[in-house]
Amino acid sequence: MSAEQELERLLDRCERIYGDVALEEVKAWKAAHPGRPAIGHLPVYVPREVIHAAGALPVALQGGGDQVDIVRGDACFQSYICHLPRSTVELGLQGELDLLEGLVFPSTCDVIRNLSGIWQLLFQGKYVRYLDLPQALNDTGGLFYLEDLEGLMNDVAARANQKPDKAAVAASIRLYNRNRRALQLLYELRAEAPQLVAADEAFLVARAGGQMEVSAHSDLVETFVSLARKRNRRKEDRIRVVAIGAFCEQPPLGLLRTLERSGCYVVDDDLNLGARWIQGDVEPGDFPLKALSKAYLVQSTWASVRFEDEQFRGDQLVARVKALRADGVIFAAPSFCDPALLDQPPLQKALTDANLPFISFKYAENTGQFQGFREQAGTFSDSLKLWGTT
Ligand code: SF4
Repeated sequence: MSAEQELERLLDRCERIYGDVALEEVKAWKAAHPGRPAIGHLPVYVPREVIHAAGALPVALQGGGDQVDIVRGDACFQSYICHLPRSTVELGLQGELDLLEGLVFPSTCDVIRNLSGIWQLLFQGKYVRYLDLPQALNDTGGLFYLEDLEGLMNDVAARANQKPDKAAVAASIRLYNRNRRALQLLYELRAEAPQLVAADEAFLVARAGGQMEVSAHSDLVETFVSLARKRNRRKEDRIRVVAIGAFCEQPPLGLLRTLERSGCYVVDDDLNLGARWIQGDVEPGDFPLKALSKAYLVQSTWASVRFEDEQFRGDQLVARVKALRADGVIFAAPSFCDPALLDQPPLQKALTDANLPFISFKYAENTGQFQGFREQAGTFSDSLKLWGTT
């Protein structure tokens, strides 16, 4: 089999996982690990190491995409919020999430916090945990978060009939360190040679990890990177863009493909951000849960859902765009996503002050028409190529 055929096979698998709301990969894992639970979690960041160390499979839930017709999910929410909670409720009511023994709701935003309450009302008897990530990024916040992590560990271990075990946490941290390094390689390759890794490919390969055992996913990402390096693809005359704002509800695959067909190379993005949240390795040391708590405080990536000062966020974005030699930024955010949309004005001001061009648009996970995006991104690309400005 040629490298290109192998890549095609691997990407087909990732696309199948992406489109599979029935979570067949998770079913297969459970069949191979009798008695072990699968615990779902909402975006953006959840310390999957803890769920894994407690003997469960962490499963990233990222809404229903464009595969789910919302029938009953709308009844739980007002019309002016994003799409992800409706499709998640719809999946739950359809029974697609019955195979999960519980769900963890991180304190991403008000919508996810409220969803945790709705879940408890709708699915009584199922394990639900609201995970309060610390706002105070200091010792007090770290201590508070450590207690949260211990609680999560104890809850999941009880459901897996395991005893919370320090050595297991250290081992899980190491496995996730490898996974983060693999994803880092994927992103580095795309930034270095974007013709070798398309935006939708990076998205699919990273996203597959949401339903897979971590080591199997690390193997997959490493294989993809080594095969993609062998591709013989000529660089096209496109602009290099950083796409941000899609860290929670994910855009449809068609939108990512449209961006690249419109003359852009996406050299960085914040898709699947939870899996890349911690920067660098975590050293488990003698107190691995404490190490995870500390990593959240000092190794988190900057994100609109994590408290930081506005100036810091703007500076981070400008530095990132410059480091990647990007020509501009595309703000692509889910409609009604407060964290992403409230962050846009200060970020846009920082880009304007640094003389860096940008465009912005909104999407929903089930958006089906891409012509408008194509025209907007195409005009952005043409303007930058012709005049170096918009
Ligand atoms: S898309 Fe935005 S508003 Fe909606 S759940 Fe995610 S972070 Fe919250």
